[in-house]
Amino acid sequence: MRRAVLDDDQRDIGVPMLLHTAASLAQDPDPSRFSTAGYLHQAALGRRLLETGYLDGEQTGASLLSLNFHEVPLACRQEAEDRIRRAVALGEPYDPDEAVDGLQVMVAFYDADRDTGLFADRVCRELGVRAYFFPVDATTLETGPRLSDDDLATIAEHHELCYHTATHRSAREITARNQESEVRAPIERLTRAAGRPPRLAAWRGGARFDAGTLGDQLLRDLGVRHLVSNWSIEPVE
Ligand SMILES: [Zn+2]
Repeated sequence: MRRAVLDDDQRDIGVPMLLHTAASLAQDPDPSRFSTAGYLHQAALGRRLLETGYLDGEQTGASLLSLNFHEVPLACRQEAEDRIRRAVALGEPYDPDEAVDGLQVMVAFYDADRDTGLFADRVCRELGVRAYFFPVDATTLETGPRLSDDDLATIAEHHELCYHTATHRSAREITARNQESEVRAPIERLTRAAGRPPRLAAWRGGARFDAGTLGDQLLRDLGVRHLVSNWSIEPVE
């Protein structure tokens, strides 16, 4: 699974994924959806949708197209902008607390090194897109400076700040010892920058919500309401 996700992230600048939401998962979903094969299927549908604008009758019920970015090198910025333009033209802007019929689109920036973050803020503002930012303070995947508190506050004027840990951790890696630095501190930082707690969160590795893990219990206690996984955005409950 990890291999499949990393391959996707490295293959492309702006990976389209068709995600499930609570609405499309309401009827007791087949657990096999949440597998590597299920992920690859949704990734293929996302690509088809971005490339052609259609799903060719494929019925999964999923109706959220997420265009996912990590680091966007200078040479790829025009392509990134073109993809954002194409994606947002396909549906309505996604908001986790609004019910909308038909296809919804979100543009998401994960990890957010400073240079990519500032590019993303500017280009999405120009395109009138409210993007979702999942910044971390450190990651092994990218080098270079990270977004400062001031940067985050500026981004929050137009976009949504979301939680993604401090040093790029998976749900399994949250322990009693690091909960303060990996969960509480970054959520407080995002809350200060945006003036409200993050509504969305994602773990490195893209795990779904599991009320049995300390990390997910903390998210719930700290007011996060939706968790983005490799397959879905589902309520924290
Ligand atoms: Zn990440």
